[in-house]
Amino acid sequence: MTNTPLDRRTFLELLGAAVSTVAFPCAARAQAAEARPPNIVLIFADDMGYGDLGCYGHPLIRTPHLDQMARDGVRLTSFYAAAPVCSPSRAALLTGRYPVRCGMPGNTGPGSEKHLPESELTIANLLKSRGYRTMAVGKWHLGHQRPEVLPTGRGFDAWYGLPYSNDMRKPFVQTDEPLKLYRDTEPIEYPVNQNTLTERYTEEAVKFIEAGDEAPFFLYLAHSMPHLPVSTSEQFEGKSDGGLYGDVIETIDWSVGRIREALAKKGVSDNTLIVFTSDNGPWLDLPDRMLNENVERWHGGSPGPLRGAKGTTWEGGMRVPMIACWPGCIPAGTRNAQVASTMDILPTLAGIAGVAPPTDRTLDGQDILPLLQGEAESPHEYFYYFRGEHLQGVRHGAWKLRREDKDGDAELFHLGRDPRELYNVAEAHPELTKDLLARMRGFEREVRKP
Ligand code: MG
Repeated sequence: MTNTPLDRRTFLELLGAAVSTVAFPCAARAQAAEARPPNIVLIFADDMGYGDLGCYGHPLIRTPHLDQMARDGVRLTSFYAAAPVCSPSRAALLTGRYPVRCGMPGNTGPGSEKHLPESELTIANLLKSRGYRTMAVGKWHLGHQRPEVLPTGRGFDAWYGLPYSNDMRKPFVQTDEPLKLYRDTEPIEYPVNQNTLTERYTEEAVKFIEAGDEAPFFLYLAHSMPHLPVSTSEQFEGKSDGGLYGDVIETIDWSVGRIREALAKKGVSDNTLIVFTSDNGPWLDLPDRMLNENVERWHGGSPGPLRGAKGTTWEGGMRVPMIACWPGCIPAGTRNAQVASTMDILPTLAGIAGVAPPTDRTLDGQDILPLLQGEAESPHEYFYYFRGEHLQGVRHGAWKLRREDKDGDAELFHLGRDPRELYNVAEAHPELTKDLLARMRGFEREVRKP
């Protein structure tokens, strides 16, 4: 047979397809994703510090499953929660927008009517529109007074978990409202047995994975731990050299292993993206109200080499571990120091699932799949640090400008040379300091626009 031009083209096309399948399995996946996008498991720890995992340098707490996940994927070292406390951080994660923009700059709690505005679109809304089965397991903390503002009203087919933080009850908080465990819109248990909560969340998550059919799924597993008061079951208590807090982190690590095992058993490991991160830094310097029911001052986690903790815009309050694993699409065993945040997760998942992110509002996040693949730098020239409605800082490359109060002096730090934010070098860099202050003022004006 002679080679006609057509034959040659067909051959080259076939060769091209074969090469791209081998060298760029993710590109082939992307084509397949048009027909059937990948499953997504998003695991969100509560108040887990930057330094709490073995793969982020903790000397005592053992996290073999998360360490393995990091070896199988990418580990980010400049990844940020969008707020240093729970509700705003969750709002930003699920909407891809700064908390001041999505109407949730502060926490909600038992007696509060506050909730994520119903005009906001969540990751679950987007993925559901693409045919995903969706489930939320664990802490919600984005409003609870009406069924419409619970997870099942915000794009999730099902929910099993707590409406807000595990300390939002007597004796930690002055409220007559008991903390209740919900299934969908119905309370099913109170008082809640918190010792077994992580294990029960995990079993719910595993059941959801096992019940899978042809449709892709999105599982949002938002652990209530290690938020204080920390507790775990007999199976884990007293096992970690890191004390009770270590026991709790090791329980969460076990949970990650159990979920990956369920994915493997179901035969979907290769077609599932798993992301693991935390909503804010560790809770240190406890208020006295927390010293009840055997809670001790040392029950908080570790910010690792960073300054500050939960509730602050120092790095330790907002920089969190982030591990992403997607065999064949994200290179195994990589580490990435580019700046990214939880707000990037919505646009990234939208891109992966092939669904258009909303265009009628400003998204602060961007699709960071190329960054996770090590093929692109951060799409963010500036990252802003908010505490409630107050803009306290901005990061630009390795530089961070921070001021506690609007009228206070701004301090400039180089996070590469000085990760602990100890040495203010603003005087040595007056132009940069001026420029970053102007950036902050400009961004403040922008987000306050109606
Ligand atoms: Mg939290």
